[in-house]
Amino acid sequence: MTDAPQPIEALTSTGIAAAMDALGEPRYRARQVVRWLYAREAASFDEMTDLPVALRERLATRFIVRGAVIEASQTSSDGTRKYLVRFGDGTAVETVGLPDEGRLTVCFSTQAGCAMGCTFCATGRGGFSRDLLPGEIVRQVLLVARDFGRRVTNAVAMGQGEPFANYDAVLGALRLLNSPDALGIGARHLTVSTCGLLAQLRRFATEPEQFTLAVSLHSAVQTTRDRLMPGLRGVGVGALRQSLIEYASETGRRPSLEYTLIAGVNDSDAELESLVEFCRGMLVHVNLIPVNPAGGGSFSRSSADRARRFRDRLVATGTEATIRVERGADIDAACGQLRQRVGDA
Ligand code: SAH
Ligand code: SF4
Repeated sequence: MTDAPQPIEALTSTGIAAAMDALGEPRYRARQVVRWLYAREAASFDEMTDLPVALRERLATRFIVRGAVIEASQTSSDGTRKYLVRFGDGTAVETVGLPDEGRLTVCFSTQAGCAMGCTFCATGRGGFSRDLLPGEIVRQVLLVARDFGRRVTNAVAMGQGEPFANYDAVLGALRLLNSPDALGIGARHLTVSTCGLLAQLRRFATEPEQFTLAVSLHSAVQTTRDRLMPGLRGVGVGALRQSLIEYASETGRRPSLEYTLIAGVNDSDAELESLVEFCRGMLVHVNLIPVNPAGGGSFSRSSADRARRFRDRLVATGTEATIRVERGADIDAACGQLRQRVGDA
């Protein structure tokens, strides 16, 4: 009895190298396979014409190329494109492409759904389906590059899912995105956004690459944060702060904090002062983001005045802060709306 073939997308580049070793193949074959999959987007092992026919046949008995297609897309008046990407097993996720003069940024998903249950987030409200495979994460970026007919310069794990809850696959994907054999995106231009899982945050600090980190804080008041992010109830705001300080000192890199401004929930003066104290003496940049009400939960965004007050007070107390300009608002980019509208498997 032989095992059923598994999707080749389950393998990282290290995994592909190990598979070649197991088949008694020289190491350079692994790079050839990576190039075929994630630079040339081969849909089958048959297409990998510089591999010996016998190897292609052996690969095909062990692996399938699961693949991914753009099932639906919407284009915003500002050029942002939002995609529903469906994988070979029927699972669908959202991916967003944000063009900006010399740059093309892809916002990709790391899980189908999310188990964290943040109350303002459409993904969180929809629950968790499954982890994405490393190759499925990379394929989203490839599809956007092909759709725009341009090189992707930046990629951020800010779509659906919690990247640190799928750590190994996300790291494997970041390394493929970074690899000159695949997309060759600079490590500093690859960003992970996390709700703040501490063990993985510490691990991320030890990775050799200069990946960029963003942490979703949303409130420096424990009770408010617990209410907004029920999946993070075990994570103390003080412990998160300490981990961020260690991250910055160990890596020499400055993380970002994401702070979604929700009227009457986390935008009071008391909340602002807690945020100021959280950031004091820390190497950090705060992104203030008016909440997108499309996330559900009857939340509305803070006024422009409140947002400016937060920014000005942070800057005055020595913390860099910007109000993020919303992209793709007319297509509800990155808030789980497309998937809900089109319907999911
Ligand atoms: N799970 C990770 C990454 C995906 S969410 C994380 O939470 O960081 C990416 C970002 O979108 C997070 O900062 C998240 O808080 C934010 N977000 C989710 N729903 C939102 C909404 N309705 N309006 C504004 N930002 C939202
Ligand atoms: Fe998950 Fe991030 Fe949404 Fe929270 S905000 S539910 S962690 S995707």
